[in-house]
Amino acid sequence: MTTRPGNDDSPMTTALAPACAVLLLLAAALGVACGNETPRIENEGGGAAHLLLINGTVWTGLEEKPRPGWVALSDDRIVAVGDGSDMPEARRTIDLKGRLVVPGFNDSHVHFASAGALLLGANLLDVSAVEAFQERIARAAGRLPKGSWITGGDWGAYEAWAIGSDGSARGKTAFAPTRALIDAITPDHPVLVTRFDHKQGLANATALAQLGIESSTGILEGDALTQALEKIPEGSFERRLAESRRALLECRRWGVTSVQDMSPLDQVGVYERLRGDGELTARVHFSPARLSEVATMIGKGWTVGAGDAVLRFGTIKSHIDGIMGNRTARFFAPYADNAPEMSGWRGGWREFSEDLSAFERMLTEADAAGIQLRVHAIGDEANALLLDMIERIGKANGAKDRRFRLVHAQVISPPDFQRMKGLGIVAEVQPYHCTDDMRWMEERIGKDRSRGAYAFRSLKEAGATLSFGSDWPGTNASYYPVSPILGLYAAVTRQTVKGTPPEGWFPEQRLALHEALAAYTRGGAYASFEEKEKGTIAAGMLADLAVLDTNLFATEPSAWLEAKVDYTIAGGQVVYDRAHDEAAAPSSE
Ligand SMILES: [Zn+2]
Repeated sequence: MTTRPGNDDSPMTTALAPACAVLLLLAAALGVACGNETPRIENEGGGAAHLLLINGTVWTGLEEKPRPGWVALSDDRIVAVGDGSDMPEARRTIDLKGRLVVPGFNDSHVHFASAGALLLGANLLDVSAVEAFQERIARAAGRLPKGSWITGGDWGAYEAWAIGSDGSARGKTAFAPTRALIDAITPDHPVLVTRFDHKQGLANATALAQLGIESSTGILEGDALTQALEKIPEGSFERRLAESRRALLECRRWGVTSVQDMSPLDQVGVYERLRGDGELTARVHFSPARLSEVATMIGKGWTVGAGDAVLRFGTIKSHIDGIMGNRTARFFAPYADNAPEMSGWRGGWREFSEDLSAFERMLTEADAAGIQLRVHAIGDEANALLLDMIERIGKANGAKDRRFRLVHAQVISPPDFQRMKGLGIVAEVQPYHCTDDMRWMEERIGKDRSRGAYAFRSLKEAGATLSFGSDWPGTNASYYPVSPILGLYAAVTRQTVKGTPPEGWFPEQRLALHEALAAYTRGGAYASFEEKEKGTIAAGMLADLAVLDTNLFATEPSAWLEAKVDYTIAGGQVVYDRAHDEAAAPSSE
């Protein structure tokens, strides 16, 4: 599989900037520190590499199976990949001892700022007992400087959504904390954490004092809670930086070298600062998350291709319908488990509420301006209407490589798979959602409609490009970890992490490992028009790689759940070396 720049079939020009090689990661990749005089050198026969990975099991993304081999990196690029002994000289060599190396993971759907806030603060989603509650709050206080607020949390979520109930316990948690549990362990931190349904909050003594509220229990509800939450000061820029640093650490820990983010617009300033400080260890593709930002994007020139390989723009995210958890996703037929007073309810629309023609006008305008569209669609009617819109937008604005991103593409009505052909759809889907939601999916929409739910195989066969992601950090009902390994497991097995159901949920929709890996690497790169630069291991591509301690191709999926990433390489630099960095990367709660 030796491919080298300079081979007749590989007219690759490689940017080399040896003097920059030791500079901080992606800053160097962009010539930030070296200026623009970075010479572009025709690389003959691999040349000198700064890093050589030998004795690897290399899955390039260009073939189904991995092969023994080596990868040579110079500056921020892969300069040669081979399986012989003809490897180039290198300043540093890492012996992978047979470990699996794959292209760096590209998580095509994250809410980065929220993930950082949750990781640095208190994640209480799976907490519904005293001891765990105290421990999580105490740990958050330990991480945060004195005086910092501890908010959010969403305690009781897992209990509320647990399976096996008769339905009467749905959406409830018996856990009722009071401030007495946390006052003593949080003397220096104001705390106002909320229950998963956001209808109850718990404040500690410090928070109550700062908010001017008297309450012996610390429990706040209704208007009192709303007003208290409004009074909490916004997180400082320093806090936002710290949250994003924590999120970046989590990405490094899981081999994620690219994220496609939909945080609030001011997150861009956080990225720019981190990049300037040499701390941005994942490439970011950033989408504003509201259609009303079209004008802002046009003003900033954020059309497809804008930005660079570290921080890229060009896509706008919007929503056509709601979500299934609270029955706001829009279906052709009513939900199967509507309460009697809601009989006939089939969900609703989201942005522009009921005025879908205004919604479509905005999409058409954005598309005409050269902005890529990315629309959240959950219910079958929502997905169908979007396909109608894409057809009309194509007619109005003419044919082009628009790569419309159908976000979630969660439940598709069977005839609509056929319509996808020729529309050049990117299915921006999150496999871990499937194994999380299948706990209650059939109850909510029935077995028949569930056949078109998370139907990754059908989407692929319909010609859609699968682009995998995590939806990190999830919702107030579930934490979705950023770990791509969980996503691979879910796509390949369609089982919960406990291995149920034994044959997988609608097993005909399972993917082969190489297909799932492609969706988590090249698929994500394709979704952001970057597949010529990343997503495969080949000469000339950006040197973004993940080395796993487990050969996923040679082990049962159940073993993947214990798999770890040993090295994360981004822009040619080792940004995570588990042997040294694991202690600095506490497991996410
Ligand atoms: Zn999301």
